[in-house]
Amino acid sequence: MAEGHAVARWADAIREVEGERVVAIRVPPRWRERAAHIKGSRLLRVRTHGKHLVLDFDNGWVVHTHAMQYGSWQVGPRGMSLRKDERFARLLLKTRRHEVAFFHGPVMEVLSREEFAVHERFHALGPDLLHDEFDGGAVQAAIEGQGARPIGDTVLDQRVVSGIGNIYKSEGLFLAAVDPVRRSDRVTREEMRVFFAELIPLMQAGRRVHGMTITLPEELRYEPWVRNWVYRRRGQPCFVCATPIEMIRQGDFQRATYFCPRCQR
Ligand SMILES: [Zn+2]
Repeated sequence: MAEGHAVARWADAIREVEGERVVAIRVPPRWRERAAHIKGSRLLRVRTHGKHLVLDFDNGWVVHTHAMQYGSWQVGPRGMSLRKDERFARLLLKTRRHEVAFFHGPVMEVLSREEFAVHERFHALGPDLLHDEFDGGAVQAAIEGQGARPIGDTVLDQRVVSGIGNIYKSEGLFLAAVDPVRRSDRVTREEMRVFFAELIPLMQAGRRVHGMTITLPEELRYEPWVRNWVYRRRGQPCFVCATPIEMIRQGDFQRATYFCPRCQR
């Protein structure tokens, strides 16, 4: 599953292709007429906001994508062997030197600059915690504004803060010792400061080094597949207090939240 750090990592890879001219582009039939405008243009820049990844071309056309749970990107030299069957690629873009493929992604739109400028979902996104200018203090008012909504639901809402997925949600709340069912307006500024201070370096490390969602320090990782403090550890002892980890479901999408009932009370 692609959380913000994985999307930022893909963008870092695609940046290799910035400045290069598109010599071929393949998209599903519904976008073909529009994509014809992109052929011959240069990839101006790659940007991300939360889990959205956007390609800007120098003639004003834009490719907007969201990988959701299943999408993934591959970038490599021209003629690379694709990791998946070509028919699963929603976007296949070639320059003289590189190829870029986007597999399975449910959101892939080819838009004009004017259309993208009024893209409601994209422009409703809250601050991205992986952007350099991110200020956790500035999102505090939006968090408190959620009132009685449980904090475990609020931090997944990309309109409040963007980039956090289900694993980092549970891990960040554990590291900040905040009960996931607590009302959003009862979580203190200091607790949220700790939440972001713990989470951001872990996500930046995931972006730079491995692309995986590792939150547990090396010395506690008794098996290579044990990567997290609480995520998917229901019934197993907490690494801090040995209390069995619990799981609840939260929000409209009933997303699983893992927590320690002792450390987080
Ligand atoms: Zn505990």
